[in-house]
Amino acid sequence: MITPFRYSSLIFILILLLCRFTVPVVDVHAATERMVRVVYFVPRDRPFQWNIPTTLDTQIKAVQRFYAEQMEAHGHGRKTFNLKTDTNGKLVVHPATGKFDDTYYHTDALNKITKEVGTQFDMGKDIYIVIADISTERIQGNCGIARFDGGPVMIPATGDCVQGDHGVDLIAHELGHALNLEHDFRDESYIMSYGAAREKLSVCAASMLSVNPFFNQDGNAGNTANALATIQMLTSPTYPANEENWTLRFNVRDMNGIHQVQFLLSVPREAISLISCQSFNNIQNTTVEFDMPTGATIAPVNNIYIRVVDQNGNISGKSWTLNVTETAETKTINTNSTETYLTLTYDNPDALVPINNPTEWAG
Ligand SMILES: [Zn+2]
Repeated sequence: MITPFRYSSLIFILILLLCRFTVPVVDVHAATERMVRVVYFVPRDRPFQWNIPTTLDTQIKAVQRFYAEQMEAHGHGRKTFNLKTDTNGKLVVHPATGKFDDTYYHTDALNKITKEVGTQFDMGKDIYIVIADISTERIQGNCGIARFDGGPVMIPATGDCVQGDHGVDLIAHELGHALNLEHDFRDESYIMSYGAAREKLSVCAASMLSVNPFFNQDGNAGNTANALATIQMLTSPTYPANEENWTLRFNVRDMNGIHQVQFLLSVPREAISLISCQSFNNIQNTTVEFDMPTGATIAPVNNIYIRVVDQNGNISGKSWTLNVTETAETKTINTNSTETYLTLTYDNPDALVPINNPTEWAG
């Protein structure tokens, strides 16, 4: 005979069993479904401009299409990010009213606005594109800025920066940073350059995005614990000054499997830029060589940066400052030419570090 107590226990067990089978499915789905969301932020003394959500719907869908077309062109299929839309497929634009007047946001806008928006939305999982309606029509003097590794992206609501195709370019570029793409000034047509007609992803960028969790909603990308890469510089510190091919060598190890290793460089007064990348098929340990671009040996200081993209789209990296100085070992080859040796110095040849910490941003 089943007493009321036992009967309720049975129901309880049944509920437990149901939970066992249903909850994990929901969890897996929720953990992988990462998307791009849009917030329209208006300081308290400015009016909402009701045409802006419609403009954004067109522009951000064009950005989504840009990535899909470029990924397909590079042989990765029509991979792109998911966008928060309503049941009619229209972009959801979350409104947010600032706690302060317009002028408050003229400086340090990224931090100030992110802090306020962060109290209303969980900005940890999704990438937020924040459209800031401030009268300067710039974000800290820039057309747009973004934090690496998940954003947010911040662009002005109005002005020349966001007009028509410029707006589409700008959003695609800043979103690229949030998706961990670095600047790439090798070709003015690359979206991560500062070119006037940006319309392409580089081979390196497309390959990197092919493992990005935002572009792989149905896979396990991004859900695996990230074992940091170890990056060690192997290059000899002494180098002939007139050497044509200045090659830097590194040992790279990553337990998650290496997908891509990137070489970036900045010389004085220039922003850091991607120089080249190499692809790997899930190996855990390799030695990579990168050639410095022609002319780089002239710079007295070269900031170099090695980034490792693992199979799940996680990034590790390490930068070195190479101080290039002439050594005393100047050898006279003949009366007409002198071969000068350079000393390459750098601190900490070994690195086990995560990069893209939340304070890092790019314009
Ligand atoms: Zn940029």
